[in-house]
Amino acid sequence: MNKNLLSNRVKNMPESATLKMAQMARDLKSRGVDIVDMSLGEPDFDTPADIKERAKIALDEGYTKYTPVPGLPVLREAVIHKLKRDNNLDYNMDQIVVTNGAKQAIANICLALLNPGDEVVLFTPYWVSYDSIIKIAEGVPVIVSAGIEQDFKILPEQLEAAITPKTKLVLFSSPSNPTGSVYSSKELEELAKVLKKYPDIHIISDEIYEYINFGKGHASIAAFDYLKDRVIIVNGMSKGFAMTGWRIGYMAANAEIAKSCVKIQGQFTSGANSFGQVAAAYALNHGIYNEMVDKFNERRKVFIKLLKEIPGFKVNEPTGAFYLFPDISYYFGKSNGKITINSSIDFSEHLLNDAHVATVAGTPFGAPECLRFSYATSMENIIEATKRVKEFAKGFEQ
Ligand code: PMP
Ligand code: GLU
Repeated sequence: MNKNLLSNRVKNMPESATLKMAQMARDLKSRGVDIVDMSLGEPDFDTPADIKERAKIALDEGYTKYTPVPGLPVLREAVIHKLKRDNNLDYNMDQIVVTNGAKQAIANICLALLNPGDEVVLFTPYWVSYDSIIKIAEGVPVIVSAGIEQDFKILPEQLEAAITPKTKLVLFSSPSNPTGSVYSSKELEELAKVLKKYPDIHIISDEIYEYINFGKGHASIAAFDYLKDRVIIVNGMSKGFAMTGWRIGYMAANAEIAKSCVKIQGQFTSGANSFGQVAAAYALNHGIYNEMVDKFNERRKVFIKLLKEIPGFKVNEPTGAFYLFPDISYYFGKSNGKITINSSIDFSEHLLNDAHVATVAGTPFGAPECLRFSYATSMENIIEATKRVKEFAKGFEQ
């Protein structure tokens, strides 16, 4: 065995906790274990039939070749149209880059903008991959935390306190993975006012859950004119259109940043898949598929009510995405006679092994006191999972 085979880069990088948990659940299921899987943030719906149909036609039309690295013009035009229609934002073609999923957009941006030691202010809890992507790009994540008592939302004074002369980027998602919290336009304005004072800082605004919003509607921090040129919007087809496997995302930024991301992408992966882009253009022109959102909302209401019934679970009422992120720290230090729970990792692991419910611990999201449940699953599963969690938790009550 060659101990030097692997790079330090990969040795120091954790595996994606969300994907790891989903794989563990799949493995157990394939061995016949009756798992209720609430680990993965993936709509359980199939891609709407009309979108699939458009892709099939695109294949017959000959969309089987390499695509321009920044994306097919038809999709970039659809993105521009969407940003105007839904967000009242104006962009040109040279500001839009189509990517192999939103994940690649974030990687492109970090690789294009960060030098070693540059700091990225990370609103915490954060999506697991942000931290690793920043580190691969040799940046330094600067954690700014908000707990459940502030609905997991960062206050302007917290943002300001985290900024140093080394701050290059601010990165957050709204609606948020893992918390489901949604920043209102007013809350974003307070944050924007802070950032206005620091003209060298750019903001990555991950809006991939934009359409999965059960509240007063989506607000983007790019809406503030004085900031727009410094905001990089990341979005994609995975969540709102149930197109996770298609691997199509996009970003909108000032032309210099967009061009630099195209350069990176041209060396790493080339343009995104051809027929998927044609179908994505069709989907974006169609706009939101409300039936899916309505279903998520029904599940959300039931799941909040059920989780709140579990003793010791602190549950907020998020209005976006499809996650609940209860604070379960009440159970830390408690034993059921066989095992002691000392962390959310313990809770999640034992819950999987003993009660056969797959979740993701809060630790890789920067919130060790919490546990993430994805309710992008059937109502039946939601009810069954809660029953099992309740029973499991009861064992630690004596
Ligand atoms: N951002 C957030 C906040 C996410 O939850 C995800 C989950 N997949 C992504 C980006 C990446 O999405 P994609 O499938 O488009 O790569
Ligand atoms: N973003 C989803 C999640 O958080 C999908 C898995 C991943 O890419 O992390 O579960």
